[in-house]
Amino acid sequence: MTTANTEKPAQISREELFKNIISHSKEYGFVFPSSEIYDGLSAVYDYGQLGVELKKNIREYWWKAMTQLHENIVGIDAAIFMHPTTWKASGHVDAFSDPLIDNKDSKKRYRADVLIEEHVAKIEGKIDKEVEKAAKRFGATFDEKMYRTTNPRVLEYQKKAEEINARFKSALEKNDLAEVQQIIVDCEIVCPVSGSRNWTDVRQFNLMFSTQMGSVSEEAGTIYLRPETAQGIFVNFLNVQKTGRMKIPFGIAQTGKAFRNEIVARQFIFRMREFEQMEMQYFVKPGEEMKWYEFWKQARMKWHNSLGIAQDKYRFHDHIKLAHYANAACDIEFEFPFGFKELEGIHSRTDFDLKNHEQFSGKKLQYFDPETNSSYVPYVIETSIGLDRMFLALLSNSYKSETLEDGTIRDVLNLPAFLAPVKVAVLPLVKKDGLPEKAREIMDVLKFDHLCQYDEKDSIGKRYRRQDAIGTPFCITIDHQSLEDSTVTIRHRDDMRQERVSIEKLPAIVEDKVSMKKALKTLTY
Ligand code: ATP
Repeated sequence: MTTANTEKPAQISREELFKNIISHSKEYGFVFPSSEIYDGLSAVYDYGQLGVELKKNIREYWWKAMTQLHENIVGIDAAIFMHPTTWKASGHVDAFSDPLIDNKDSKKRYRADVLIEEHVAKIEGKIDKEVEKAAKRFGATFDEKMYRTTNPRVLEYQKKAEEINARFKSALEKNDLAEVQQIIVDCEIVCPVSGSRNWTDVRQFNLMFSTQMGSVSEEAGTIYLRPETAQGIFVNFLNVQKTGRMKIPFGIAQTGKAFRNEIVARQFIFRMREFEQMEMQYFVKPGEEMKWYEFWKQARMKWHNSLGIAQDKYRFHDHIKLAHYANAACDIEFEFPFGFKELEGIHSRTDFDLKNHEQFSGKKLQYFDPETNSSYVPYVIETSIGLDRMFLALLSNSYKSETLEDGTIRDVLNLPAFLAPVKVAVLPLVKKDGLPEKAREIMDVLKFDHLCQYDEKDSIGKRYRRQDAIGTPFCITIDHQSLEDSTVTIRHRDDMRQERVSIEKLPAIVEDKVSMKKALKTLTY
């Protein structure tokens, strides 16, 4: 049996790791660039034969955690197209925009806020470099805190960064785009492509995609591709409440595509123009929203922790500047290969959305409380996670390139077994002597419960590697002994351990190891 080398593997940079993850996911059929034969479409990706399975499993785990474990949460599937007034009421037509700026020489487009944030990050990077240098110089006697608060050069950088941040914050609050441009000019920020400072004015760019509905141009109206799934829930609030006889507090869950014309889309499937969200709106009595906000913060973190990912890969980030409709908001951030970034948002949205839809539609969207004999517009706690970002989080956490004792490299995806695309590989040791037939018999039992792969090509070692690379938790090998005593070996992906078990017991053993039920059972609320 080959074992993993216990020596520490050579460290590779985060950028390199991220590149490896992207190429691995293409090589093994997880994610492809969209319409690749035409050189792709910027920030749009297709999920391949294994990607679609992993994505489906993540979605199912989220869906069951919401709708099966909570008796008071139900799901819907609203259309992507919605009446255009929906987006007036939600504020997206007027305010769902990012400040953009073009460089006149390179003709490249940037998010003005990102240019400024990156400039500030560079200054902060200089501080870190100073600290690093000093730590080397002073050795064990180095007092970092003291150095950061007294060293003149560090203080100067610090002051510069704070001044820019303060100016930028104030410009954003006043929606003063001329001032945002002036900050870029004053900071002497150059275009990374042309190297010039030849900038256009800053203007707001709405992120919603629009299209025309109707067959004749005169009667065609502009409609939008939804930028979030949440509004489909709000407009159906009363339909669901009435037909489902829902009592407050209750939730409506939905998964589906959302579209945003992101100005700068990059980092693979982290920021795309077409992506999928998994959102749940929880309707509560006004005044009780903070209690439920805390509840959902904990509940969602518990869901993440049930995936077996180290706790220190996650952190909460409270929003300092709240959106006008929110009275509390935070992100669950995940440590991607490019640093801690938002994976999920938890927002206390007050009654903003329902009230606005009442106003724009002229229809009452209220809950009649039989206990107090009065009606009110419920408050809402929202949990909103990007399915593609969760996919990337799992992929980047599970991808490992190990050097084995014999010096060979093993690429492995240590995905949680219940989410793995293929659960079991069925492998006859050789292509003769009745072993393939025996293997087919096993396939014919297991395939009704699990996605299994039959593979008889190449050496058994090569076949194990192929399954490791796609994250298959278990390989079942049928050898000559199997014909004699009806036993097979089952090989475990993570530690490459092999054990001999009877064929009769296989369905129960596999079920126990890959069942989603076990993970769901850890989610008691
Ligand atoms: P960001 O600050 O990264 O742009 P956001 O705050 O605009 O995200 P929300 O509007 O809160 O995001 O959307 C909820 C979730 O949807 C995010 O936490 C993220 O997981 C996902 N999401 C948002 N935009 C994208 C995108 N362009 N591509 C992939 N996922 C996205």
